[in-house]
Amino acid sequence: MSKQHPANDQLPHPPVTADGVPEHIFRQAVEQSALAISITDAHANILYTNPTFQRTSGYGQQELLGRNESILSYRVTPKLVYETMWAQIKRQRPWNGLLVNKRKDDSRYLADLTISPVVDENGNTTHYLGMHRDVTEMHRLERQVQNQKTLIESVVDATQVAIVLLDEQERVLLDNQEYKKLIGDFGKEPAVKLLAALRAQMGDAFAKASDKHRNIAAREVCIELPNRAARWFSCAVSWFEEQDAGADAFYEPLRRHYLLLTIQDISELKRQQEALRINSLRALLSEQERIQGLRETLAGAVYQLEGPLNMLSAVTHMLERRREPGSELPAATALEEAVRKSREALETLRACIPDQAADATQSVNLNEILSDVLKLSTASLLGAGIVVEWQAAENSATLPAHPAQLSNLFKQLIANAVEAINEQRGSRRELRIACFTRPDCIEVFVEDSGPGIAEELRHKVFQPFFTTKGAARQHLGLGLAMAQETVTRHGGTIDIDPDFRNGCRVRIQLPRAAGEHHD
Ligand code: FAD
Repeated sequence: MSKQHPANDQLPHPPVTADGVPEHIFRQAVEQSALAISITDAHANILYTNPTFQRTSGYGQQELLGRNESILSYRVTPKLVYETMWAQIKRQRPWNGLLVNKRKDDSRYLADLTISPVVDENGNTTHYLGMHRDVTEMHRLERQVQNQKTLIESVVDATQVAIVLLDEQERVLLDNQEYKKLIGDFGKEPAVKLLAALRAQMGDAFAKASDKHRNIAAREVCIELPNRAARWFSCAVSWFEEQDAGADAFYEPLRRHYLLLTIQDISELKRQQEALRINSLRALLSEQERIQGLRETLAGAVYQLEGPLNMLSAVTHMLERRREPGSELPAATALEEAVRKSREALETLRACIPDQAADATQSVNLNEILSDVLKLSTASLLGAGIVVEWQAAENSATLPAHPAQLSNLFKQLIANAVEAINEQRGSRRELRIACFTRPDCIEVFVEDSGPGIAEELRHKVFQPFFTTKGAARQHLGLGLAMAQETVTRHGGTIDIDPDFRNGCRVRIQLPRAAGEHHD
């Protein structure tokens, strides 16, 4: 309390402070304060308590007067706290801290206490002013938040999924143990690389989701890592909004947006899927090979039989023409009958030629098909010591197609190329496969460093039963004819590049739009 003016009994007015505030206002302010206020002597013996103090502690004014403030001590507050408190106030400095207090009814509360020394004109501490409030509830809430934070952090750390929180500038604010492991593998901030890959994959859709803070469901991205095998990750993005906790944003909320990226390493899963896909492709292609072998054998047999049968037909016609009218020629009749029966047998044989196995049309990624077929051919390519150059299309090379037929087509072309390279016995043993996306088609080149195909044969090689190798070498000459059949079914074209001089370059163009098939 401030100093009093010298008493003046003559004055009718109550005493006022130097500031002109009547002194009784000070008492009323203390009496009515929402803080628990006490005034003690220099040894903490209570001289005064306000009603809030009495309500908070549960003691009446008379029970408190003359007692030490230690009446409120619950004895769990460490001694050091009191020693620090006393050392501070004895140096005539205010002290603030938290004490566990005990009410009259033995219940406890957490007191946020401030003690100010009251110093007289001689510089001696005569009294202490104590002000405290019950902060048990606030402490409970703080602890609850802290406990929840610890719980969330341990759950997030224990999860097998990498989680990272980024601010609007995509700076990392928070991450978990799994994410930290990725930093070692990536060499630099994984989130930056993964978000760049997501942007490249999604194009405008990423920017739109980001603008509207729309979540992005799990997407698979492939990351090439230095000196390591490529890794696959399933990434999901969600955004959340936080209100600025700063004082200036109390009445004018400032919203900040954060990006939560969850990353799951699915490389092993992808490897298993790929192994499964390659194995089923291998099984499918070997079944197709079996059917194709049957087709080739039967078609070859029909082709071989047709020649002599045509000759027999010609002989029957000749005999018929030479027959005298009215005369019988039993041998001619028998021959005619034999030719008729043979034709029937030939038709039965033709009907036995199995159709090319028809798989359903679906959206097919040619990059994937070519890469799978190359993987399937790895053993034969390695065995032949052939250097392979594979250039995938940069953009998405998808088109509506029969995947098994296309796989078979490229397998056939690669087999032809390997055979041609083996024939050449030159020093260059190279196979190059390149895929390009053109505005209306996808173009694939299969180039080999073999002897090439002579200009006059470039068209003939696509004819059925045309072969440059001869039947003695088990060649029926149906491979390229069937390749052409497959390409035609897809509405595309296949030809041999006349300008390619270093071997043979087969060019296949397949339309990207549906509806051009000729099944
Ligand atoms: P005490 O024996 O009283 O003291 C413990 C230690 O404190 C001693 O070892 C000593 O180092 C130091 N100490 C105690 N008294 C003095 C002194 N007069 N001079 C120098 N050092 C001393 N305590 C509470 O628990 N709750 C309160 O709400 C509370 N309010 C207070 C309000 C005011 C204005 C003041 C001045 C003190 C208040 N205290 C309060 C402190 C209280 O007076 C006791 O010091 C404390 O409760 C510890 O009591 P104790 O009996 O356990 O130990």
